[in-house]
Amino acid sequence: MEGSRSPQSRQLLVSVVMPVFCEGAHLPVLIADVRRSLEQCNLPYELILIDDGSPDNSWQVITAEAKAAHALRALRLSRNFGKEAALCAGLQHARGDAVIIIDADGQHPPSLIPDMVRLWQNSGADIVEAVKHRRGRESLSSKFGAQLFYFILNKLSGFHFKGASDFKLMNRKAVDAWREMHERNVFFRGMTVWMGFNTVQIPFEVVPRSAGRSTWSILKRLKLALIGITAFSSFPLHLVTFAGVVFLGLSVLLGLETLYLKLAGRAVSGFATVILLELIIGSLLMISLGIIGEYLARIYEEVKGRPRYLIEELIEPGEANQNSDDSSEG
Ligand code: UDP
Ligand code: MG
Repeated sequence: MEGSRSPQSRQLLVSVVMPVFCEGAHLPVLIADVRRSLEQCNLPYELILIDDGSPDNSWQVITAEAKAAHALRALRLSRNFGKEAALCAGLQHARGDAVIIIDADGQHPPSLIPDMVRLWQNSGADIVEAVKHRRGRESLSSKFGAQLFYFILNKLSGFHFKGASDFKLMNRKAVDAWREMHERNVFFRGMTVWMGFNTVQIPFEVVPRSAGRSTWSILKRLKLALIGITAFSSFPLHLVTFAGVVFLGLSVLLGLETLYLKLAGRAVSGFATVILLELIIGSLLMISLGIIGEYLARIYEEVKGRPRYLIEELIEPGEANQNSDDSSEG
């Protein structure tokens, strides 16, 4: 539906980017919903679906959709790279003047799209952010985990990420700015907050998943949380120095006391003290090394400069089922 667009009569194009992992079961319904919402906007649009190496039938569903209907660009990554990488691929391939990022599990209501587009056109905002009004049904551990994570991240980085979701509209300026950020450790939510720009918010309620279950394991969440914290704050590193200074102070005091007792001929008999000190200092050293290791790992990943994802197949709108050779983006 892109059509030829001369500069004068140029109509704004809206892109919708959707990362897909194992969502084959309900994808057709969701795509139909998204298309219906987009048609209400009366603007030309394109859909960009990124299959993040799903082992289920998601790719077949996407190809069938691409054949059956217009304006669908489909990307298939060579394996599961994770949602953030899939988003990168989608944003790289989106051509719209506004790009809407939406989950493929039905938790982000497509009915919000017309409002987002209207807000973007009327308010002149660069980013329209859908903010979780209520987090919807989720396990206590994930709710508590999210609360704790956002609290720590806010304290460490000074940015407010709470309630932020990946459901948002970005205008061309914001997308281009985002594409300038070349880091491998992508924390999409955080990076858009970091960019600033004129942002307006629109509340929405997270609905339960249409089908399937969240594929984020605790370990995956923990990894994203670590990426988020290390990418947005170097405070933990300072903490190591701080702890070092505090313990230096304590050790001077303890050293003086020990020396005094020794000189006075009343050397400490406490074996327990020695054990305790060793334990405390030992664990502190381990934690410190671990923190440094986390940053080192991030630096290592960045320095390698590998592409964030690899594309196995790319279907352009209107040319369904034409394979393109492996191409990659950074
Ligand atoms: N997703 C993905 N790659 C992954 C995991 C998830 O592209 O490795 C997609 C998934 O298909 C969905 C979105 O990311 O469209 C959000 O996933 P999910 O619902 O599992 O996460 P949650 O809503 O629990 O944050
Ligand atoms: Mg979800």
